[in-house]
This record gives sequence, C-alpha cells and structure tokens, in this order.
Amino acid sequence: MTAAIPFTNTYARLPEHFFASVDPTPVAAPRLIRVNRDLAAELGIDPAWLESPEGVAVLAGNRVPEGAEPLAMAYAGHQFGNRVPQLGDGRAILLGEVVGRDGLRRDIQLKGSGPTPFSRRGDGRAALGPVLREYIISEAMTALGIPSTRALAAVLTGDSVMRETVLPGGVLTRVATSHIRVGTFQYFAMRGDVDGVWALADHVIGRHDPDLAEAPNPYAALLTRVVERQADLVARWLLVGFIHGVMNTDNCAVSGETIDFGPCAFLDAYDPSAVFSAIDEYGRYAYGNQPGILHWNLTRFAEALLPLLAHEAEAGIAVAQDCLAVFGPRFEAAYHGGLRAKLGLTTDQDADGELGRAFLEAMQAGGADFTLTFRRLGQAALGPEGDAAVRDLFGDPGLYDAWATRWRARLAAEPLDPAARRAAMDRVNPAFIPRNHRVEAVIQAAIARDDFAPFHELVTVLARPYDDQPAFAAYAEPPQPHERVLQTFC
Ligand code: AMP
Ligand code: MG
Ligand code: MG
Repeated sequence: MTAAIPFTNTYARLPEHFFASVDPTPVAAPRLIRVNRDLAAELGIDPAWLESPEGVAVLAGNRVPEGAEPLAMAYAGHQFGNRVPQLGDGRAILLGEVVGRDGLRRDIQLKGSGPTPFSRRGDGRAALGPVLREYIISEAMTALGIPSTRALAAVLTGDSVMRETVLPGGVLTRVATSHIRVGTFQYFAMRGDVDGVWALADHVIGRHDPDLAEAPNPYAALLTRVVERQADLVARWLLVGFIHGVMNTDNCAVSGETIDFGPCAFLDAYDPSAVFSAIDEYGRYAYGNQPGILHWNLTRFAEALLPLLAHEAEAGIAVAQDCLAVFGPRFEAAYHGGLRAKLGLTTDQDADGELGRAFLEAMQAGGADFTLTFRRLGQAALGPEGDAAVRDLFGDPGLYDAWATRWRARLAAEPLDPAARRAAMDRVNPAFIPRNHRVEAVIQAAIARDDFAPFHELVTVLARPYDDQPAFAAYAEPPQPHERVLQTFC
C-alpha cells in the first residue's frame, strides 16, 4: 500500500533537542469544513482521500498517517520586544514534510491539535474563528501574490474550547515551505548552543537556499538573503494595506512567507498609525511601523548568527551590520516600485515618490478607502470621465482633484496607452481583499448558525482578487460605519 500522504521528514532527523516528539490528541467528533483541493493536488495528495472519513480523521488529529513523525518544534522569541527564551509549538504539531509536484519541500502541520511540551498554560487548541480567519487570509494573501503559509484544510473538532466564552473548536492544516523562524535561531542562541545555531543554519541553507552552500561565506549570505526576502515581504504587505498585528520574532519566518494570522487586519481608510490587534496596547505593530519593526527583528536574527559570522570573518559584527544595511534600500526599492505600479507608472522619475506620498496623504485626509481608491484609479487612468468614481470616496473630493491634476501631467510622460495602463493597474490593485467586516461576518455565521456557506463564498471570491467579479461586487465595498471592525483578537 502506498501512503496517502508521501511524507519524507528532514526536521525529525535534526538533533533531538530541536523538537519534542508528540502525537496529536484525538477530538470528539471530527467534521470537515473544507479541503483546499488545488493545494492538495499541488502537493501530490488525493483531495478525495483528504475528504474521506480516513482523511478527515488525519486532519483532526485522530489518526497519525503512515510516514508521519509528529513533533512540536522548539523556538524562542522576542514578544513585543521582550526576550522569551522558550516558546515553541504550544498548539501546533508538525506531521512531516512533503515534496510537491513542483519539487518544493513543504511542512504539513496541524494547528489546534492538542497540548505539547511547549504549551505552558495553554490548552493546545484553536477556536473555530481563528481557524477560519487563518484559512481565509492565508489563501487570500497567496492569491494576491504575496508569499504566505497556506491552508490545506479546516475541520471542526466537536469539542468546545474555553476563551472569553465557550466556542466550537477547530483544527487548521497549515502548509509552509518551513516553519523555521527567527525565534528558532534565537532558541539555540539564547542557550549559548552554538552547535545548535550551526546545525539549524545548515538545515535552512540546504532547504531554502541550496545555492548558498557554495558561497564564500554561506552564513553571511544567508543573513543577506533573509533580509532581502523579508524586506520584499513587508513592502508587499504595505502595498495591500496588510497589518500583521503580532510581528514578534517567533512570527517571522526565514522562508520569507507571511506566517501566523492572529489579530491581523487590512486597512479600510488609509492611516499609517492603524492598529487593530486588541493585544497591541502601544501600537508597536501599527501599519506604518512594520518596516522598522522588521529591521529590529532581523537585527535579532543577525545577533543569533554572530558566532557563525565571526567564524567566517574576523569582524563578525561589521559583517552583520553590512548585511542588515541591505534592508533599507531593498525595502525602499520594493515599496516605491510597487507604489509606482499602483499609480500606473511604468517609468521611474525622481518626483514619483513624492507623488505617491501626496496621494496617500490625500487619502488619509479624505478618509478614502485604501483598496477601493486604488482599484478605481484604474478607471481614472482611462481618462477624466473616470474621476467621479474615485473622488466620491474622498470626504473632501477637492483633495483628489488637486492631486489628479499632478498625476495626469505625470501620465503624459508614460509610454503605455490608457487601456494597457488600466489593465496593468488592475493586476496590482486588487478589487477584493479579506475585509475585516466580511471575515467577522463569516465567523459569526459559522459560530451562531453552523452556516459555512458565507465562508465558502468568501474563499471563492478572494481566490481571484484582481478580476472584476460583478456578481460579487458587494465584497469590494468598504464597511458601512456600523459594520467597521475596530479590534481583532488572536
Ligand atoms: P502566537 O501569539 O500565536 O505567536 O503564539 C505565541 C506562543 O503561544 C506560541 O508558543 C504558541 O504555540 C503559544 N500558544 C498560543 N495559543 C496557545 C494555546 N491555546 N495553547 C498552547 N499554546 C499556545
Ligand atoms: Mg506564533
Ligand atoms: Mg498565533
């Protein structure tokens, strides 16, 4: 018999103190919510098998599949700036790794599958709401073209979990190119376990950056690579209005994928100081702070790698500083390049950064919806007859008019014809994002009425964020004042 999931496990071969072997804890009554059929196929797993009673038992943690070597990964981290030497997978269990049809190795992990040696006072469980939220948003990010962990499946457990209230429990099956975080490196560094840092760095190079094995200084090259990937990632977040919400170092993946969709949110009106997370009291992880915080996290990564950098070169600290110095220019290039594309500009002029900033400032002053304003700007790119739809979004439409005059003058220096420009803008300015009020409504329908139809519909719409989907136009609309979500919770 061939295994239904073709596991091959490299993390389980690392030294024993890298993880704790632990099986998922069975649940009362597994019930499938959704299997991500396309992703299953990419991974070489039969979607029909995942949907069968046997598959659902695996997705709920009631059955350990053939070839799996379940484990909880050890990691540390800085949470809200505070050093925490031991965190680890407290409610997640890595079943194993699968090499997909594309040749890429990916982790398959159950989240909410019961306690582990790293659970501390937690119950190891996930409530249904966060499971649905992570499914929706991680898949939406992927469809937007932003590197992200994926959702392979969501199930109900039939058990209740105690939070502020009693809630239905769920398990999410998460897929990632790896779950190795900055905090994983910190776990060994904080213990003075240089061999551990070394083994982990070699594992990461083998897994994510095999080309660096032959580099003159592989560990400095690895640091630079992670700095580049993360700089690109945070630029992409800003360009779609994403606020991660908990950018602790343990939620910062060395793969460059967005990970851990807790109290995350998307901007409605543009506001750099926007914070949604209920636990982010001081706005440390506000929308506009994200690049600075990321640089701080990457500095912690460089610190963890220091013994390796010092082995490669006498001046290890200077090497670390040089690698970290890549961040600023890399982020600026990614962000400003992206912003130019959002404005329909294919050429690069000195004043473009200013033009972009002025647009954002006008949006902020006018309370204009970030996503819809950019999307409608594509119509305005066809000619001034498209202006009405954009200016309507500004509390004071004069703010848009003043800016649009400058923008049109700039467009005159562009080579593309208006139709091509509009098409290009529509490929970078999404119509559909996981708006906070829509995500909340989906969760409420599931909890209060056991109705998952809104969840399935939202997932379907968000799979094609750049296509006009007239039948679902309402999903592109900002919340009404009474629908606005002001806070999100883990
Ligand atoms: P997060 O805020 O999601 O990044 O989680 C921070 C840490 O808390 C990680 O070590 C998690 O595994 C752990 N954790 C979060 N929720 C639970 C839970 N319900 N049970 C056990 N551990 C948890
Ligand atoms: Mg986390
Ligand atoms: Mg979390």
